Amino acid sequence: MRLRVLLVAVCLAVLSAPVLAQPVFVEAPLEGKVLKVQIVDVGQGDCLLVESPEGKRMLIDAGAMGRKNRLMDFLKERGVTELEQVLVSHSHADHLGKMQKVLQTIKVGRVISNGYFHTTGINLRVLEAMKERSIPMKVVAAGDTFKLGEGVEFQVLHPEKGADLEDEDVNNTSLVVKLTYGDVSFMLTGDAEHDTEAQLLDDHLKDLDADVLKVGHHGSQTACGNRFLNAVSPTVAIISCGLNNRYAHPRQKVLDALAKHGSKLFRTDQEGTITITTDGKKIHIDQEKPAPTAVPDAA
Ligand SMILES: [Zn+2]
Repeated sequence: MRLRVLLVAVCLAVLSAPVLAQPVFVEAPLEGKVLKVQIVDVGQGDCLLVESPEGKRMLIDAGAMGRKNRLMDFLKERGVTELEQVLVSHSHADHLGKMQKVLQTIKVGRVISNGYFHTTGINLRVLEAMKERSIPMKVVAAGDTFKLGEGVEFQVLHPEKGADLEDEDVNNTSLVVKLTYGDVSFMLTGDAEHDTEAQLLDDHLKDLDADVLKVGHHGSQTACGNRFLNAVSPTVAIISCGLNNRYAHPRQKVLDALAKHGSKLFRTDQEGTITITTDGKKIHIDQEKPAPTAVPDAA
């Protein structure tokens, strides 16, 4: 009798345990209310355009300076005249390239940042543009959450609240955010390096699992360590970098780690802008250009 009670208790415990839903990758484009995340080909830099199912838009970083960053053309072609919010991951120029222009020419609701801006000219011009257009800034840190309309949730995982960012390497001041819509999640780490990854593993391990990883620091060997990659466990990995860039991003070590992990890799330097759409259960991915086919070794 006692055994029967125990078995019933075990069965109930199993049935009530949360089931981690795995999203399904589909070939056909998704219709209806979908979240769209575009990793924009801006050359050697970072820029993501996020569009909620209700049509609210958000920009995460604004690529590098120079003509190779065709962000303004990209936004114009898509008729983007309003951004509910803009996120600045950190204050390096390859993420702020067209930020001043964006703030000056597009109606922006607010800027989300870690609150730390370097004293370089590009940072000062971004702050000036915010002041000119009276755009409010929301400073966030680990533990904070914010939304882009209904159901599109952002969870901030780094930097820690009250951290002295002036003493940090600028890459490690990067805002690390997890974007979740339904059962589908994206890990966006800016240029955070191994030190930040170690801190995330210590303090936020249970929050790191995600379906899509925007690979840290453009595929540099200073990010995307094995333990971190195992914790995120991404089915899809995206590297944003410029073709033949002078930093030799992405590094082979990172490509090997992603291949070993079995993540499907997309690269903006080879495939242009990558567009991910999801209804919260299924994911569809489009690339601007086909991936180059490997040239077989000469016999
Ligand atoms: Zn960068």
